[in-house]
Amino acid sequence: MSPAVAVVASLNVDHIVLAPRIPEPGETLMGFSTSRELGGKGGNQAVAAARLGAEVAVIGCVGQDEDGEEYREALLAEGVDVAHLRTSALPTGRAAITVDAEGVNSIVVVAGANADIPAAAAETAIGELPGLRVVVGQLEAAADATERAFAAARARGVLTVLNTAPVGDVAAKLLPLSDVVVANEVEFRQLTGQDPVDGLRRGSAELFAAGCRWVIVTLGAEGCAVLDASSSVHVPAVAVRAVDTTAAGDSFVGALAARLAEIPGEPTTADVVAACGFAATVAAVVVTRHGAHPSLPTLAEVLDA
Ligand code: AMP
Repeated sequence: MSPAVAVVASLNVDHIVLAPRIPEPGETLMGFSTSRELGGKGGNQAVAAARLGAEVAVIGCVGQDEDGEEYREALLAEGVDVAHLRTSALPTGRAAITVDAEGVNSIVVVAGANADIPAAAAETAIGELPGLRVVVGQLEAAADATERAFAAARARGVLTVLNTAPVGDVAAKLLPLSDVVVANEVEFRQLTGQDPVDGLRRGSAELFAAGCRWVIVTLGAEGCAVLDASSSVHVPAVAVRAVDTTAAGDSFVGALAARLAEIPGEPTTADVVAACGFAATVAAVVVTRHGAHPSLPTLAEVLDA
């Protein structure tokens, strides 16, 4: 089958430390344990969507190293199309993650090969995926590649979903090409200069003016807000005991994309709200488990939850 979802994807190997708390600047802290896992926002989003039953392609770049080979094999094992996964002379992306006793994480990412996705190849890839319904991007992968892929998708009427994580100056270039913008509270504040509660409508108005059609602001355990140019709906989170929020936002975006790809024709705001309800159910499972890929549920696990 031809993939319905393409993710212009950052692919990282995560080095994770569980610690009693996040260390202060200059502090050395004794942690509980370490682990090494596959992650990266784009890879997490792609695997999340694939486990939920979507046909997914990755447009990305890994290093010519063991990490890159392992990531390619892992994506293949998930049934993800890797025909547009290239190799670079730069090393596979890597992240250092600290998770505290409350399950809150802090992350440093070194992009490596993720910064090396050729923009022309990203555009070509979109043209070679005839069944596409949704293209997802984040700000961890090469911005010019995401921009060209989004422009090609837009020209074909394929829905574009931008996750503004981690927020940076490049977001401004991508906003006019993004149908759906998914930002967490910190990103919303940085993008718009507005508070995600009091200034939700004012901040979103800027994003609509830039060309977006829906704004989704994720609010952690409070759920998310879904806005179009004239209405705003709060979608509550599912109450669970969180142990690790790693990949919560990524699973939300992957699940959202998987659901939106199933909608025939143009989505309505009601479709986007319903897809966010499903994404909240998926993300609630993810926060009860440790790690990135290991925490991403299958559709059967979500239906059982
Ligand atoms: P965040 O990136 O932290 O805003 O989280 C993304 C989504 O994950 C939220 O919109 C929720 O649906 C879900 N989520 C995050 N944290 C929790 C939590 N503690 N309990 C339940 N759901 C959560």
